[in-house]
Amino acid sequence: MPTITFQGQSFQCDTDEPLLETLNRQGLNLPFGCRAGICQACMLKATHGMPSEDAQAGLEKKLKEKGYFLSCLCKAESDMEVELPDPADKYHSSIVFEKLFLNASVIRLRCSRPDGFIYQPGQFVNLLQPELGLTRSYSLASTRDDNFLEFHIRLIPDGRMSGWIADKVENGTFLFVSDAMGNCCYNKAYSDYPLLLAGTGTGLAPLYGIVRDAIASGHHQDIHLLHGGLNSDGLYYQEQLQQLAQRYDHFTYQPCVLNGEAPEGGVQGSVDDQLQQILKAEHNWRIFLCGDSEMVNAMRKVCFAHGTDDSDIHTDAFG
Ligand SMILES: Cc1cc2nc3c(=O)[nH]c(=O)nc-3n(C[C@H](O)[C@H](O)[C@H](O)COP(=O)(O)OP(=O)(O)OC[C@H]3O[C@@H](n4cnc5c(N)ncnc54)[C@H](O)[C@@H]3O)c2cc1C
Repeated sequence: MPTITFQGQSFQCDTDEPLLETLNRQGLNLPFGCRAGICQACMLKATHGMPSEDAQAGLEKKLKEKGYFLSCLCKAESDMEVELPDPADKYHSSIVFEKLFLNASVIRLRCSRPDGFIYQPGQFVNLLQPELGLTRSYSLASTRDDNFLEFHIRLIPDGRMSGWIADKVENGTFLFVSDAMGNCCYNKAYSDYPLLLAGTGTGLAPLYGIVRDAIASGHHQDIHLLHGGLNSDGLYYQEQLQQLAQRYDHFTYQPCVLNGEAPEGGVQGSVDDQLQQILKAEHNWRIFLCGDSEMVNAMRKVCFAHGTDDSDIHTDAFG
């Protein structure tokens, strides 16, 4: 069995088990997100020994060369010494300049855009909280033209990162922000197709970026945005989206609530049912589904049942 050394402690590691699981089973509490090699929240640095090739597959060359790897994918083949990432290698620093409650449980953070930070609206980043040893992924709601980064953060009861953001983050707080990742983004190849964007809760964050990116890119086919909440209190940005719909005839904004009265210009019912209705109205949709993973999976099934090809669906599931 290979021996893994971390912060002066040594652990025997099963060659069949990812390093992340082995180390966290020993009570180390290493950060992680998706556990599937996508979010990169579990990245570690090997100072001795080689990580497996597949654990470095999606990383930038400069990170690979420094020994970085994804611990959720790494099954140790030989002894290794590993350490937490150096924030300077992996993160940009950014300063919060606005913190605003969009409703009772969603906070909007706006922070400075680091120099040279390039991204496509709809991508996500990892935020690092070094003192708590936490990394969590958040989707970008801002667009390329904004000189700031915007995040919509839902407060999770007892959530460590969202709780820290609610209680401690204020104007002037420094954030560590990773490079942007993910491919749930508008693509000019879709310009001849209608776009259907659906999400619940803070799933609106990436969708808000994608909608405005599509419009700014001159998308002329229909764009339909369906935003679901448990009730009207769970919605936000209604005014901004209604104004956008007034300005652009080909953009439709449809809020949808499961309980209570239908919101202005919207419907009461389940997001799944609404999605079915919208899918029937046109063919060839290019689809974006974002938010809570279970909801994204449920909406994806509705799209499959309608005959949509998997390659026409982009998702940002909040893992
Ligand atoms: C690619 C990606 C993009 C994301 N984008 C966003 C975004 O734009 N906005 C946003 O608000 N969140 C987003 N998330 C979710 C976010 O990364 C965190 O998981 C979330 O903020 C909770 O972190 P926490 O530390 O506050 O809670 P934790 O301390 O990790 O969890 C506390 C408790 O809440 C449960 N829990 C964790 N997450 C959720 C959840 N989403 N719903 C219900 N229960 C939960 C846990 O199981 C645990 O019991 C995204 C996730 C991924 C993978």
